[in-house]
Amino acid sequence: MSSQSINQTLETTIPIAAPQPLLGLSLPELTDWVVSQGQPAYRGRQLYEWIYKKGVRSLVDISVFPKTWRAAVADVSIGRSQIHYRSVAPDETVKYLLQLADGKIIETVGIPTEKRLTVCVSTQVGCPMACDFCATGKGGFMRNLVVHEIIDQVLTVQEDLQRRVSHIVFMGMGEPLLNTAHVVAAVKSLNQDVGIGQRGMTISTVGIPGHIIRLAQYQLQATLAVSLHAANQALREKLIPSARHYPLENLIDECRQYVQMTGRRITFEYILLAGVNDNIKQAAELAQLLRGFQTHVNLIPYNPIREADYQRPTFRGIQAFVDVLHQHQIAVSVRYSRGLEADAACGQLRATQA
Ligand code: SF4
Repeated sequence: MSSQSINQTLETTIPIAAPQPLLGLSLPELTDWVVSQGQPAYRGRQLYEWIYKKGVRSLVDISVFPKTWRAAVADVSIGRSQIHYRSVAPDETVKYLLQLADGKIIETVGIPTEKRLTVCVSTQVGCPMACDFCATGKGGFMRNLVVHEIIDQVLTVQEDLQRRVSHIVFMGMGEPLLNTAHVVAAVKSLNQDVGIGQRGMTISTVGIPGHIIRLAQYQLQATLAVSLHAANQALREKLIPSARHYPLENLIDECRQYVQMTGRRITFEYILLAGVNDNIKQAAELAQLLRGFQTHVNLIPYNPIREADYQRPTFRGIQAFVDVLHQHQIAVSVRYSRGLEADAACGQLRATQA
């Protein structure tokens, strides 16, 4: 199948199961809806505050509304999920399995530190990219998430941890750029309605031909993170099967165009797999590939899963890789997955508990 037909198949023919509930609607849209129900327009502002600021889960609970109207609209969905499973790691990372209206289960992670509360959100139920090292990729793909299902994940963590969310990473289940319209709408609503700065958001992709440029056209302030995981085409295809539709040089070209169009930097993500992509020659190859980019590389030592044989490199091996990137003047961080004890690998919790 060509990359174009893959894009079309994935983005235009995926059924969207849930009808649109109120979460995700703007203040004017909520006001229009309230007025269409025969209520005064000021109730639109009340509804907006209760949905986005108080995180109400049912219209029945909005105490400032008249009881008779609450009863009349009791069946109207706000669009909140149910917590199906919750686990807390010793480092306080909280992993959630959330049950959607159609019964599907997705993963969300809340990562608290002293100064930040970051939420790792899913953008699809499952994932079609089938990355060889990823539990979600092994589990197949079901459907895209819609706007309210993405926003709900953030509100759920905020409510559960009783703390404002400061950062959002679109790095949970799914490939965000196969669901760009809903992801962009969610970014805008999370910014305007929930009040989280776009600069605190990161959208991650393994790269879909043409979709990075398409994202650039939205001129978001969110950071784009491109998952490379290999600096040559042959190895990348082994780790990310969909990469065979997208030569690495084309991906890098598209990244350069993104930088030109947006004036924003790109972060590159690289999972370190022991004995696969972690030797110093490969580090030099990565440095060469990224020559000329004002960039930051996030190295992610692999978090082993039972569904795949990959292992995490040693600390010395990781440090040697970092040293080579530093020698080439590439800014680099090593990002250890939080919550290892709570099945922290992508898709792992869902695989064991759903
Ligand atoms: S690593 Fe990301 S893109 Fe790859 S299969 Fe897993 S969820 Fe999908």
